[in-house]
Amino acid sequence: MISLVIKMNHNEVTWRIFPLNTPTIIRHCSKCNRKMDFYCSEKFRTNSNQTRSDIWLIYKCEKCDTTLKLAIKKGIKPSDLPKERFDKFTNNDVALAWEYAFNCDFLKNHNCVINYASVKYRVDGIESIDLEKPLYIHLKSDFVFDLKLSGFLASTLNLSVTKIKRLAEMGNITTNPECNIAKHKIKSDMEILIHTLSSPLLQPLLLNEPVQ
Ligand SMILES: [Zn+2]
Repeated sequence: MISLVIKMNHNEVTWRIFPLNTPTIIRHCSKCNRKMDFYCSEKFRTNSNQTRSDIWLIYKCEKCDTTLKLAIKKGIKPSDLPKERFDKFTNNDVALAWEYAFNCDFLKNHNCVINYASVKYRVDGIESIDLEKPLYIHLKSDFVFDLKLSGFLASTLNLSVTKIKRLAEMGNITTNPECNIAKHKIKSDMEILIHTLSSPLLQPLLLNEPVQ
């Protein structure tokens, strides 16, 4: 647990991670005749007759635009789904498409390899870092995309991953809940405390110099 004593004299910031796109998935493309990255079109396809409906999420090959349909529901009756939810499928609700496109169980059930490296993201809140005091970070993330905490901290603090790992080993960076910073992947909201900036590893940051 993070010490309250340390919390009394620190900078407190909230960093919020927003993915800019959904992950691509790797599947065989019949036209390219090899495994390709498919991107989520953020569109659904529904096929309904009077009693039954099928719903798919549509992906497209990055190279040739071949369509790949991932079944979400098959042969459902109108009563199986609240009308509001069904309308979201027919209206191509983007938030709902993202919900499926980040759902690793859904994608793995369709034998997709998820290419998390394709996800670009931005971080809100990092512009207000004051490096004179210990830094207490509330990290908010609504999506899980295999983002390594060490790499994330390295890029946001402009340090190398090696330095982040050394700072963690030295106890200069701790988290709540506790985790192995070298290996942890961000799965939910967490708190990060950078205890001291007097470490020689952080001096380039204080001096605003390029970090090796
Ligand atoms: Zn293709």
